[in-house]
Parts: sequence; structure tokens; C-alpha cells
Amino acid sequence: MVKEKLYGKTLNELIAVTRRLKLPGYAARQIADWLYKKEISDISGMTNLSNKMRDLLSSGYEYGLSEPSGTAESSDGTKKYLFKVLTDKYIETAYIPDKERATVCLSTQAGCKMGCIFCMTGKQGFQGNLTSNEILNQFRSIPEHSKLTNIVFMGMGEPLDNMDELLKSLDILTSEWGYGWSPTRITVSTVGLKGSIGTFLEKSRCHLAVSLHSPFDEERKTLMPIQRTNPVKDVVEIIKKSGINGQRRVSFEYILFSGLNDTQAHVRELARLLNGISCRVNIIRYHSIPGIQLASPGIEETKKFRDALNNKGIIATIRASRGEDIQAACGLLSTIEKNRKK
Ligand code: SF4
Repeated sequence: MVKEKLYGKTLNELIAVTRRLKLPGYAARQIADWLYKKEISDISGMTNLSNKMRDLLSSGYEYGLSEPSGTAESSDGTKKYLFKVLTDKYIETAYIPDKERATVCLSTQAGCKMGCIFCMTGKQGFQGNLTSNEILNQFRSIPEHSKLTNIVFMGMGEPLDNMDELLKSLDILTSEWGYGWSPTRITVSTVGLKGSIGTFLEKSRCHLAVSLHSPFDEERKTLMPIQRTNPVKDVVEIIKKSGINGQRRVSFEYILFSGLNDTQAHVRELARLLNGISCRVNIIRYHSIPGIQLASPGIEETKKFRDALNNKGIIATIRASRGEDIQAACGLLSTIEKNRKK
């Protein structure tokens, strides 16, 4: 018999479990405590539940953690972990230490439907949505779990394309009955799905990062097929109308491609597009992938582009590239070979 996993359930779902098993009402909060505030990994360790309650719980449920099945370490200290999900698929998770910060980059899907041409995950196609158990297990089951200061949902997949499990994960991370993390330490990245971004802004207080990469319609369509049905100007309008407050940060991710999206015309159009929105632009180096004829400009050209944006009143920063030698850097996560070998 396959047991249901408790880890990854929200408080409401745990209340439903206790009702099903006819456990006392207070047991749901006790179980949440053991799942999200204590470092145990088995129901038998939930020692403030009676033996009878633990036996009842164990009859249909398991704690539900799973260790990574592989690791690679970069010369810069970044690590990449491999996790088995959806019975027979694999995903990758990046751990990025940086001075006093320690960030985990979580995946929300095995593969991705969005097909961005500069991304290895996009090339892999879509294998399935992760459950909140599989999303949060990446956070909890890496050895550096207790050191983490920040979480970014920028791994494999489009988070807003798996909204229910994303919102459950954020609820568990930020609720007082869960991990109790501040939403300002969590960033969710999206290509910009018109139908979902409003829901995300309404139901979560976490930071938002939108993958922009070009302010021009036709050019963005060649880089990101999602532009055909979800023009980024519509997404920007939704964000403007949502009334972002001072606590929440909105950023736009901009991979710089030499001779393509790094001109003064791009600077002017970005300033026009982002006018009236409190945000920053993160400039990211392109990491080359096979079969794609795009290149990254040099650091001097990159700095010039950043300075030109700053001169237009847009806060722009260059994001440090991490983990390229182990294919953990932005756009390089892929489990296509691993999925084939199973
Ligand atoms: S960049 Fe993100 S949304 Fe685009 S294909 Fe890659 S994983 Fe999917």
C-alpha cells in the first residue's frame, strides 16, 4: 500500500487528516510542528502524540522526506542536487552560498512547457507538475537546509503554471504554523502568465521576478514563445494596477544577448515600458547552450547597458553568474539525459 506523505500538507489539509482518523482537533497543529519546526523525519518521532495516535497516523501516512540522489559541486561553492520525482523523473535544485546569504533555487515542474529558446529546461519539454511535497522536499532535504537565508523559485519549470502547489508551498513556508519565514526572503520567478499573475500577487506577499529579456514584441516572441499569448506589456499593466507595496519587490530579469537586446533602443523602450512601476532590472549573463546562436557581451558592454538604464532612472544590477561549471547557472538546469536512462 502506498502511504500518503504528510510533509507538504497545509494546516487545513492536516486538519482534514486528523478528522479522517478521528484524532483530537489539536493534533493537526502538533503534527505541523513536527513537520515544519523540528528536525525529525519519521512519524515515530512525534513524541507528544500518544502511541495510539502515531500508530493510527502511520497506518495510512508516512512523514514523506526523500534524500537527493546525486550532487555536483562547483569550484565557486554552488552545489546542484538531483531529486527523483513523479515516480520516475528527475529534477535539479541549486544551492548558492554567497557571503552571509545562502540561497536555494527550487524547481516547481519536471521540465517546462514554456520553450524559452535560451534555456536547457525548455528544450527538455514538460514531464509533469511537482507536488508541494516535492517542491518543499528540495528545501528541507539538502544538507545545507539549516543555513538557508533565501529561497528563489527559479529552477526547472514555470511556477505560476503549477499555481495550486506553489501557493501551498508558500503558505507552508510563510505561515506561523509552518516555517514562519518572512515572504521578503522568497522570490518567485515567472515568464509572466496574464491569467495567473494577479492571483499570485493577491494570494502571496513574496517578491516577484518577471523574465523580460526584450521590451519589443516581435523580438521577445523569438526568445520566449509565451509572448504570443501573454504580451509582457499586459503583464506590466497587471502589476502596476495591483498596487505593489514597499515591502514587496518586483524585478525584471534581463539576459543580455550580444547584438540582439543590448542597444540604446532597448534601453529607451525598457524605460518606457517600466515607467511608473517601482522595480529593478537584473541583468544576467547568457550561458551558452547547444544549437543556439546567441552570445553574451563582454563585461564592459554589460556595465554600459546597466549604466544606461540607471541613467534613465531604472535601478539595474548585474547578477553574478554562479555554478556554470556544473550546469547549475541560470538556463542550464536539465535532466533530459537522466530521464532517458531510467
Ligand atoms: S526559462 Fe523558465 S519558463 Fe523558460 S523554458 Fe526555462 S524553465 Fe521554463
